[in-house]
Amino acid sequence: MPEKVYIFDTTLRDGEQTPGASLNVDEKLQIARNLEMLKVDVIEAGFPFASPGDFEAVRTIAREIRGPQIAGLARAFEKDIDACWEAVKEGSNPRIHTFISTSDIHLKYQMRKSREEVLEMTKAAVKHAARYTSNVEFSAMDASRSDPAYVAQVFTAAIDAGAKVLNFPDTVGYAIPQEFGAKIKYLMEHIPNIHKAILSVHCHNDLGLAVANTLAAIMNGVRQVEVTINGLGERAGNASLEEVVMALHTRKDFFDYYTDIVTQYLHPTSRLVSKLTGVVVQPNKAIVGANAFAHESGIHQDGVLKEASTFEIMTPSTVGLKTSSLVLGKLSGRHAFRNKLQEMGYHLSDEELNKVFMRFKNLADRKKQIFDEDLLSLVETEVVFKSVPEYYRLVDLIVLTGTMVKPNATVKLEVAGELKTHSAFGDGPIDATYKAITDLAKSKAKLLKFAVSSITGGTEALGEVSVRLEDEGHIVTGQGVDPDVVTASARAYINGLNRLHFLKAGGPKGQKPEKL
Ligand code: MN
Repeated sequence: MPEKVYIFDTTLRDGEQTPGASLNVDEKLQIARNLEMLKVDVIEAGFPFASPGDFEAVRTIAREIRGPQIAGLARAFEKDIDACWEAVKEGSNPRIHTFISTSDIHLKYQMRKSREEVLEMTKAAVKHAARYTSNVEFSAMDASRSDPAYVAQVFTAAIDAGAKVLNFPDTVGYAIPQEFGAKIKYLMEHIPNIHKAILSVHCHNDLGLAVANTLAAIMNGVRQVEVTINGLGERAGNASLEEVVMALHTRKDFFDYYTDIVTQYLHPTSRLVSKLTGVVVQPNKAIVGANAFAHESGIHQDGVLKEASTFEIMTPSTVGLKTSSLVLGKLSGRHAFRNKLQEMGYHLSDEELNKVFMRFKNLADRKKQIFDEDLLSLVETEVVFKSVPEYYRLVDLIVLTGTMVKPNATVKLEVAGELKTHSAFGDGPIDATYKAITDLAKSKAKLLKFAVSSITGGTEALGEVSVRLEDEGHIVTGQGVDPDVVTASARAYINGLNRLHFLKAGGPKGQKPEKL
């Protein structure tokens, strides 16, 4: 009988520590809802003591999400653990995840504590957490560089104090698979009360070995793995959820383990996380990269056309990748439209559906063929990215450009309900449009990044624009989509300005947790 491996997702905690990625409460909640559809076992929603924003995000997720357990991270201090419990306690099966370093190098230079002191702190912290709940996880930070005999001693004490999950992190991404697996085997053999708990690992990718180390650990007795969507996380990131899950799934002949993950949601979740964090997925990334299922060689293409299994070890549909298919046209009704979105995994409210349907009708008038990717993009920009109020709204845009004229843009913008119009010249039509918007919005935001991509290929494709803006220390990503790249650019810029306005007005804010 295959044994279950529990999936502990830390996209919202370690993943959010990715440089440049930060999420507000609404965005975290959207990701949490996707993780719930994916059927992860545990969502680590944040680090409640680190900032009020983090506390609020964890509490909101604990209140809203019913399927997975909701965990919060806490250092081995009473005040951290108290704040953590306060944030997670309304969850369906809340978990306190407390941690302390066990490596001599951390003890000597960072904590200036003896092994005995750390052992006592572990017992006290786990006991304190266990007063709130029996669902307590304990992590030994920098475990892979710690003395295994000492970790075994600390874990034995933590289990006695009430910990149910013992996590052995490769915090600095230093381990090698065979060595790491052997350490897990050692722990399984040297913790006398290990039958009362399960072992977990948390691997970092500094040497590109996070997934390999995670799999080696599973083969030696680990039954919980801490992973992130797209492998996000500190520095080079964490073990990627999709890679670990699909390795177990694809090589069932080799691994006698299973997970509860609904693999068809892997691709949509990867996209959502990438959009909301602004961290793009490299095209050659395993499982979810744009090229993961693209065959370039003629010999490979010929084989796949004759029989997919000749060169494909997984089918794209297993991970939820839809190939371009003609779906709807301008005569499609609201009912078919709603059905199509549900098929794609989007359950929208009536109000959301109306908004997307209007954009769809408008699009269908201008673009003959509407593909799944187009719909996905519309839903993402109209619903996922409209999670902030529209302080600025694009009403109209007229652009004059050519080889003999100086590009000019006239923008009509609704600013807090008031209509304003302004024209500006620029080096190109997008430059002119951005100048007009900047003047209307009186914005001082700096444009850090501007990227255009076409969604389905061909000149009639939807243009998708992503911008990164900075103002007064806030950095946001804005997204826009339209068959006209100038209009898509305007939408992206205005979306970014709305996000900045929301943050500056003191809206719910996902402060980056202090780095640990
Ligand atoms: Mn980590």
